[in-house]
Amino acid sequence: MERVDAIVIGGGLVGSAIAYGLARAGLRAALLDEGDVAFRASRGNFGLVWVQSKGDGAPHYQRWTRRSADEWPALAAELSAKTGIAVGHERPGGVHLCLGEAEFAARHAMMERMRVQCGNDGFDYRMLDREALADLLPGLGPAVIGASWTPYDGHANPLNLLHALHKGFLEHGGRYLANSTVTGVDRAAGDFRIGVAGGEIGAPKVVLAAGLGNAALAPHFALAAPVKPLKGQILVTERTRHVLPLPITTIRQTTEGSIMLGDSQEDVGFDTSQKPAVMQTIARRAVLAFPWLRDLQIVRAWAALRVMPPDGLPIYDQSEEFPGVFSANCHSGVTLAAAHANLLAPMVAAGALDPALEAFSAKRFDVSAAA
Ligand SMILES: Cc1cc2nc3c(=O)[nH]c(=O)nc-3n(C[C@H](O)[C@H](O)[C@H](O)COP(=O)(O)OP(=O)(O)OC[C@H]3O[C@@H](n4cnc5c(N)ncnc54)[C@H](O)[C@@H]3O)c2cc1C
Repeated sequence: MERVDAIVIGGGLVGSAIAYGLARAGLRAALLDEGDVAFRASRGNFGLVWVQSKGDGAPHYQRWTRRSADEWPALAAELSAKTGIAVGHERPGGVHLCLGEAEFAARHAMMERMRVQCGNDGFDYRMLDREALADLLPGLGPAVIGASWTPYDGHANPLNLLHALHKGFLEHGGRYLANSTVTGVDRAAGDFRIGVAGGEIGAPKVVLAAGLGNAALAPHFALAAPVKPLKGQILVTERTRHVLPLPITTIRQTTEGSIMLGDSQEDVGFDTSQKPAVMQTIARRAVLAFPWLRDLQIVRAWAALRVMPPDGLPIYDQSEEFPGVFSANCHSGVTLAAAHANLLAPMVAAGALDPALEAFSAKRFDVSAAA
């Protein structure tokens, strides 16, 4: 049986970022992935590194997200230097467009609430009126009356990010085991064995980062991962000249020139089919924001499933019954990739989660324990 220092289950963005961080820290790590049969958010997302709406009522989430956004430039530079893959990260700030006075007022109230909740950490935001916004974004539709802006937001190429994390992991000596669905677990203390087709692999540390698969894996280690799928659809236009200098919550221009239009939130279980009515709504809303989008051809579209915890916040735990086994889930795996590689992986390597992550434990969903 092969033995390593740490096994990470799940080769999507969450598992790959953690595995990369572990291998970089010098651990012999194995990354197991189910393969092409899986539902994989990491290959179907929008690519935002997004901060401004994260953590209304949960300032610890805003703090964690912002720490990740702050770590992003270093991770992007490191991955590019080590792997030769540019992950296309930019952090020009971002805006959320408001269509109508009611939306503007509600957004303003939320941003101000978040500023107050952030306390001494501060929360630098501005509400831009139409005139200020028109200087920033050309060709605004008449329905747009303003926007919220923060300097924290950015975007990246999520497929290049995934590729770079995998390549970086391998270059640090990591073992990637594709087509390796977990078939069994043996939980002897400090000597966990994970069964996959064709054998077993053992380690004193295991990280459950299997996205939606964590819901079934976590209970084997006395953990809970009550994540559910939430479908999102995305449309992509043909390439055009660079017109959008910064990302918008549901519209962003890639470095190659395509414009991505997102995205829906559909609670429809494990259904990944595309729905013309939803695609029309996405396109209609985008054209309201920028009427000139009407002239661009849609060249690609897809649907993918988010990995959604009940309250939308990440879940991080170490099993009390099986110390050495960790779980990690989130619905913002691009945004949090830098936190996972640079902050969470060192905690796993050291064997303890930082107390700052306690509020992300799945215990928060255990009503009887909390009572
Ligand atoms: C439409 C859409 C738009 C999004 N936009 C953004 C965005 O703009 N910014 C952002 O930050 N995030 C965004 N996200 C969310 C982001 O994509 C996810 O948070 C992230 O990809 C989750 O990564 P993951 O590794 O947890 O899950 P996944 O990508 O689903 O990967 C899980 C992996 O685990 C493996 N696996 C599962 N079960 C097992 C098992 N039993 N054994 C072995 N392997 C297993 C699977 O093979 C899979 O590869 C978006 C998501 C969607 C769907």
